[in-house]
Amino acid sequence: MRILFVEDEPRLSEALTYILKKNNYGVDTAYDGETGQAMAETGVYDLIILDRMLPRKEGVALLKELRSQGIHTPVLLLTAKDSLQDRIEGLDAGADDYLIKPFSTEELLARLRALGRRPSGQIQDEQLNVAGLILNPLHCELTQGNKTVKLTLKESLLLGLFMRNAGQVITKEQILDRVWGPDTDVETNNVEIYVHYLRKKLNSSNVRIETVRGIGYFLKEELNVP
Ligand code: CA
Repeated sequence: MRILFVEDEPRLSEALTYILKKNNYGVDTAYDGETGQAMAETGVYDLIILDRMLPRKEGVALLKELRSQGIHTPVLLLTAKDSLQDRIEGLDAGADDYLIKPFSTEELLARLRALGRRPSGQIQDEQLNVAGLILNPLHCELTQGNKTVKLTLKESLLLGLFMRNAGQVITKEQILDRVWGPDTDVETNNVEIYVHYLRKKLNSSNVRIETVRGIGYFLKEELNVP
């Protein structure tokens, strides 16, 4: 497992790198956003630990650029802030998980183990079509009519799960298991955030994500389209 660690505080970087190496991870470090981005763009890393506040390019902007280039390496975002807005911003930019500073090394290692496992909802090279809504999971592209939009990897995995099970209720726990992996520490409110974003991207289609209160969601085809 090869990790790219982008962090500008030298003492934190050194201390964590030491711990990661002791836990048998291969680690490369970058101390600013531009260098981190150039290294991440090589695509050789299995995981990226990304600090939010970085010189030369901040973490969320870096992450957005990586995702827009189709680089879907799992990213654990390190952040000193904890507000819902920050959380949404980070997840929407394509982070797979985040840790609030300061954190314990045990917690970091647990998150890395979870991120390093392949979720069972891994990308499949098949095009999905429900009522004219077409998802290309390999490229995370959603086509509605003559409009194609890019999805984040998690959005694509989530929509793929809904489309394969159209009409069937899927619980939030099943979604966490299939999209984030069986051992994830991610909470169900992240599912709600992703559903919120998917709905925004789906609003011109014949397909809706319906909520089943207290249980989960299902994908519904609109039969009477004007
Ligand atoms: Ca920093």
